[in-house]
Amino acid sequence: MPDKNVAIIAGGIAGLATASNLLDEADSRNLDIRVTILEKDHAPGGNLRTLAEGPWQLEWGPNGFLDNEPATLRLVEKLGITGRLQRSSDVTRHRFLLVNGRLVEIPTSPGAFVTSALLPARAKLRMAGELLIPRRKDLGLAADRPETDETVFEFGCRRLGREFAEVMLDPMVKGIFGGDARQLSLAAAFPRMVELEQQYGGLFRAMIALARQRKNKTDAGPSGVLHSFTGGMQTLVSAAVARLEQDPRCHLVCGAAIGSVAYREGSWFIEGSGFDPEPYDAVINAAPAHAASGQLQALDPDLAGLLAEIPFAPMAVIALGFEQQRIQHDLQGFGLLIPTREKRDLLGALWTSSIFPGRAPEGMALIRCMAGGAANPQVMALEDGELVNLALAELRPLLGIQGPPALARVIRHPRAIAQYTRGHPARLKAIFARCAARPGLYLTGSSYAGISVNSCCKEAETLAARVADDLAAGREEVATPLASTTEEDR
Ligand SMILES: Cc1cc2nc3c(=O)[nH]c(=O)nc-3n(C[C@H](O)[C@H](O)[C@H](O)COP(=O)(O)OP(=O)(O)OC[C@H]3O[C@@H](n4cnc5c(N)ncnc54)[C@H](O)[C@@H]3O)c2cc1C
Repeated sequence: MPDKNVAIIAGGIAGLATASNLLDEADSRNLDIRVTILEKDHAPGGNLRTLAEGPWQLEWGPNGFLDNEPATLRLVEKLGITGRLQRSSDVTRHRFLLVNGRLVEIPTSPGAFVTSALLPARAKLRMAGELLIPRRKDLGLAADRPETDETVFEFGCRRLGREFAEVMLDPMVKGIFGGDARQLSLAAAFPRMVELEQQYGGLFRAMIALARQRKNKTDAGPSGVLHSFTGGMQTLVSAAVARLEQDPRCHLVCGAAIGSVAYREGSWFIEGSGFDPEPYDAVINAAPAHAASGQLQALDPDLAGLLAEIPFAPMAVIALGFEQQRIQHDLQGFGLLIPTREKRDLLGALWTSSIFPGRAPEGMALIRCMAGGAANPQVMALEDGELVNLALAELRPLLGIQGPPALARVIRHPRAIAQYTRGHPARLKAIFARCAARPGLYLTGSSYAGISVNSCCKEAETLAARVADDLAAGREEVATPLASTTEEDR
């Protein structure tokens, strides 16, 4: 038996990256470790899956990731797939919004913004007034005083005006979270916005100060460039799995049906079927919060209750392929997003074959539409054919598409993306306080502190180091039994 035995529940990118980093951290501490990953599905990877549909290459979940997170790039490097990175085309600078039924390009410079048709003059004037709006006094307190937690929409209205919030923030939140700006917590979903207001007193003041700072540096700025891989996002998962399978200390089990997590006589146990029962020194739960909730119900009903409070938005991805000559629009851009006030069923569409090469056969275009989300979950009740017709009906007039699609494929995500709703920072604080009281139990993944692939990879690095430290120090042993929940814990 190894000195330290660790189970990782779930083999999405969060679980795989944590496993890979944990093995490295064990190496650097001379820890004799064994890591078992218990994945529910027949294959690991979670949302990161690339489907080959004849000559078309479709993404099940994420389309790519930004290259501004060093932890992801370090993982890519360690897995030996840097050479397979694919940079998105420069045309992705061009992004469009549906405004009053017409596609309008989002301006990328202040000058272009002033002359653009995106917002009427009164809304632009209101935006300019942002410079005069004082900083909120109770910023940065959302985890301790949930009543101060502002939604993304409230923040937009307060600082930049309602019209900006409706036309720009609302669709941005749909595009990133499949979410509803009127429900998501600014502090949880966009913590940087809170920091900028806190530090500089406002967004324009922050932009000016940061632009000045950048002038004195040579880097290209913080926003990053979208990347994927030849072979799509599956390349990252396949490389991580290959690395883990080569390591005799790692054991990957697919088809594991996990019932519950228990702690008995100084060891952790995972109950269920499809895997061997054994005692563990630590359990890292990288499953989505709703799944973790069920697994932890018997161990800690209060923790399970908090996890169950994190909602997930459903989403349908509708991939449509066309002969390029049947589309009037040149598709030179990233795609389009649709504000709620336009009253459409689609959240938006990405022009996938314009973003990365190799996604569609020669002379064809691949468009990826998104429907559903937190604000429009009822479309998920439609049959696949109905979803395809809905996407075609909304896209045809916008892009000038003639004739039937050469490819139509619907991918359903009943619980696509965790929604960091108002109160999420306080909920997280309570969740992690309860975990901290159970040494050896850890939670990670996109349900908590960042929904992107980059956030999962960043968290995987810090968590792996923490777990290795705890194992090395013998801190995984439970010192005192957890007292029953008090109101302060929540
Ligand atoms: C349509 C869509 C588009 C997206 N686009 C982007 C994008 O462009 N860029 C980006 O950065 N992010 C994007 N995301 C988010 C991205 O998918 C997540 O960041 C990432 O997949 C989260 O990884 P994860 O490991 O936390 O969760 P998941 O990928 O959800 O993996 C969770 C794993 O847990 C397993 N599991 C579930 N229940 C159990 C159980 N009971 N027992 C054991 N295992 C279990 C699942 O089978 C799965 O393997 C998108 C998501 C969706 C749905």
